[in-house]
Amino acid sequence: MTTTTSPEAPELADLRTQVRELTGQWRADGRYEPRSDNWMRGFDPDFSRELAARGLIGITWPRTYGGGGRSQAARLAVNEELLRAGAPVAAHWIGDRQIGPAVLRHGTPELRAEILPGIAAARYVFCLGMSEPEAGSDLAAVRTTAARVDGGWRVNGRKIWTTGAHKATHTYLLARTERTERKHEGLTEFIVDMDTPGIEVSPIVDLAGDHHFNEMTFTDVFVPEHRVLGTVGNAWRQVTEQLSFERGGPERFLSTYPLFALTLRDAEAHGADTEERLGRLVADLATLRRLTWQVAASLDQGAAPVVDAATLKYLGNAFENDVVDFARRVCTPDRAELHAAWAQALLASPGFTIRGGAADVLLSIIAKQETRP
Ligand SMILES: Cc1cc2nc3c(=O)[nH]c(=O)nc-3n(C[C@H](O)[C@H](O)[C@H](O)COP(=O)(O)OP(=O)(O)OC[C@H]3O[C@@H](n4cnc5c(N)ncnc54)[C@H](O)[C@@H]3O)c2cc1C
Repeated sequence: MTTTTSPEAPELADLRTQVRELTGQWRADGRYEPRSDNWMRGFDPDFSRELAARGLIGITWPRTYGGGGRSQAARLAVNEELLRAGAPVAAHWIGDRQIGPAVLRHGTPELRAEILPGIAAARYVFCLGMSEPEAGSDLAAVRTTAARVDGGWRVNGRKIWTTGAHKATHTYLLARTERTERKHEGLTEFIVDMDTPGIEVSPIVDLAGDHHFNEMTFTDVFVPEHRVLGTVGNAWRQVTEQLSFERGGPERFLSTYPLFALTLRDAEAHGADTEERLGRLVADLATLRRLTWQVAASLDQGAAPVVDAATLKYLGNAFENDVVDFARRVCTPDRAELHAAWAQALLASPGFTIRGGAADVLLSIIAKQETRP
């Protein structure tokens, strides 16, 4: 396993301070309330643009594409602070986390120049068109088709659970470009403008009453040739890599940090019987932070730490659910703020172990790797 400069390194302290000052100011001005799961639910383009103006989006990308040319450790320091503050970062999260890196790895120079500066400036908002009604865990089963036409591709099909599609300017799209015997072959990735004729977005409201995900229908949607991401037919390898970016970050264990922080604040009131459990949670958190640094270090070196990222997501989601359970034990109706934060996190929690790869599927990825000779 590789090591990385710790995101707690003194040279990164200025970044942490910048983010703390910004989130502190926005809270003081009443511009957001910290919420669990706000990296997915808290959509505020103004906040993302504030970060962009400070060079905090695309921080690891080359400067020629509007990036900051810094390390993954720097990115981790920024993101830990944003998640810790429960900040509304959904408008740039997907583009910064995985589409930008995928375009950097696989995009042509033209595609990089077209897409990356827009994400880094928080002008482009991305959603992820991967899952379909019959293809969630089994992504290789996607049925959305892209057929060659003059100058590009014609897309038809349906995507589901697409977070933020109703607010996105662009979607990443995984589509079948060839029918083959082996379902992992014949898939291709595209970048598509959301205002292209033929795309329809319908809302899906979750059990908390929030509208963040959607169904997207593509009817004869034209995608120009230059919007193919990487190699035609090679999407399986590319998307597997992309999932390392999606699964290996600190949002996989810090979704419930705003709730955890409240339980810590009231720690003295909990009594000795809960101290041991609290201690375990703090120790788990330290371990998860260490693991996410290792994933970041591998990404820095151009690797795709598929198994480490799956491990992090599996353990991180378990931790998030432990935090919710712990809060349930210590929050009494007279602790109104804690009670409200617990209720909000509880309603968000069923999605933790499903989105980005269901827990059983992650275990299967880990097991297959561990049993390889
Ligand atoms: C909050 C949230 C946000 C999401 N956002 C997006 C998004 O933006 N874009 C997008 O494309 N998708 C998104 N998704 C979809 C998500 O990635 C899929 O729901 C997920 O991959 C599971 O797919 P599925 O729903 O088809 O379930 P299924 O694949 O039907 O799986 C159901 C259950 O069956 C079990 N299972 C399935 N296959 C296996 C296997 N091989 N081994 C063992 N057990 C198995 C698992 O326990 C799984 O939980 C989101 C989901 C949620 C909850």
